[in-house]
Amino acid sequence: MKPVQSTLQKWLAENKNFQENYAKIKAEVLQDPDIKEFLLHHPQISDKEINRSLIKLYEYKTQSKQCDRCKSLQDCPNMLKGYSPILQVVGGEIHLSYEKCHTRIAYEKEQQQQKLIQSLYMPKDILQASIQDIDGSERGTAIQALINFLKQLKSGLPRKGLYLHGKFGVGKTYLLGALANELKKANISSMLIYMPEMVREIRGSLKDDSINEKVEFFKKADVLMLDDIGAELQSAWFRDEILGSILQYRMMEGLPVFFTSNYTLNQLESQLASTKDGVEQVKAGRIIERIKQVSREVSVEGSNRREND
Ligand code: ADP
Ligand code: MG
Repeated sequence: MKPVQSTLQKWLAENKNFQENYAKIKAEVLQDPDIKEFLLHHPQISDKEINRSLIKLYEYKTQSKQCDRCKSLQDCPNMLKGYSPILQVVGGEIHLSYEKCHTRIAYEKEQQQQKLIQSLYMPKDILQASIQDIDGSERGTAIQALINFLKQLKSGLPRKGLYLHGKFGVGKTYLLGALANELKKANISSMLIYMPEMVREIRGSLKDDSINEKVEFFKKADVLMLDDIGAELQSAWFRDEILGSILQYRMMEGLPVFFTSNYTLNQLESQLASTKDGVEQVKAGRIIERIKQVSREVSVEGSNRREND
């Protein structure tokens, strides 16, 4: 008989512990400020339903909500890193689900952008460019136009960027790098692309069907920057189907584009007209019209910085 008795005693003791623990957990759960508020908003929830869902409520209590207990995604203490719990009532029952927290959403967005930007060539010194380093007196109008653009951000993203043209080496690309860094501080994403690289990238993705995905990205970036537009545009298909459709979309949506070029807009028009498929003034004119809708032409003056390197 002894083993049975001791087993029974043990069971009773454990059961008592269980009941004590259960009561303790319930008290803790009901003390939690977020759960208190949840129950306050749902007075129809019965005590029976609370008892039935105690494990869910306890899980909810232990999890960080929208990053309130962590600084970065790495620190996220939740069972599913980067997912935040939500309590809901569906048909009188408590439901627990998870949604991506804002840190995870921002992280995924950055990863996705990083992936594309990395594949598009930009020298390191350009990506580290700072607006403080720019000699304002020398590059007067252009730098003033950039500063104006940044000032306008307070009341939303301006509809027009700039078309910066000037001689080789005056620092046009550097200006874009500095602008991208300022935009980052304002939490605005920008996509800075060296045009010849973009042409290569798009041609390359003909093989793996990722063209649409890439074009969508160029269409929708907050601020698009096309560096060195001009010489690479020898294909009518690229001009009309890729560049044309990106600019058309951004024009309709009022999204700004920045360009740099060695050509003025008038000179660019002749460049765009003559592709290896022939001379097409009308089609070139159409692109120029769109460029004017998404940017304002400004000349960048100064000496060639590369000569002093
Ligand atoms: P562009 O695009 O007009 O041909 P870049 O922007 O490439 O000229 O500038 C040429 C070189 O001068 C680059 O190495 C760049 O880092 C440097 N540079 C341009 N502007 C500045 C500046 N304000 N301060 C420091 N370096 C600069
Ligand atoms: Mg350049």
